[in-house]
Amino acid sequence: MIEGSCLCGAVRFRSERMSGIVVCHCSMCRKAAGGATGAFFVALRKEVTWTGEEYLASYKSSPELVRTFCSRCGTAMTGANLVEPDETIILAANALDGGIGARVVAHEHAGSKASWADNDDAPHFDGPYPGWESLRP
Ligand SMILES: [Zn+2]
Ligand SMILES: [Zn+2]
Repeated sequence: MIEGSCLCGAVRFRSERMSGIVVCHCSMCRKAAGGATGAFFVALRKEVTWTGEEYLASYKSSPELVRTFCSRCGTAMTGANLVEPDETIILAANALDGGIGARVVAHEHAGSKASWADNDDAPHFDGPYPGWESLRP
């Protein structure tokens, strides 16, 4: 069993099983996910149960593809699913809670990688970045 939720907790999904995770570097997924990449996996629609589904808002990012997100906090909850649903659903890995056994199986649209996220050799901090107060353009 895997579980996911949005930032405000209004929307939750549960699924019996999940596929491996595909990381997408395209600009649409970056904007939808609010990060350097989108990350998604596939579940079977009949195995997915939703809580707070009424808070889901949707956006057709292409004529045949629709994405959903929490209307209260904006968290991406599903990836680019067919408007006419099939037996699978693409869920957003960014919404996953807890330890997940799944691993990344592929990166797609790697040529569209954000220029600012490429060749990044900046230092990593376990806590918050101590330089926020002095950060200026
Ligand atoms: Zn929310
Ligand atoms: Zn994408």
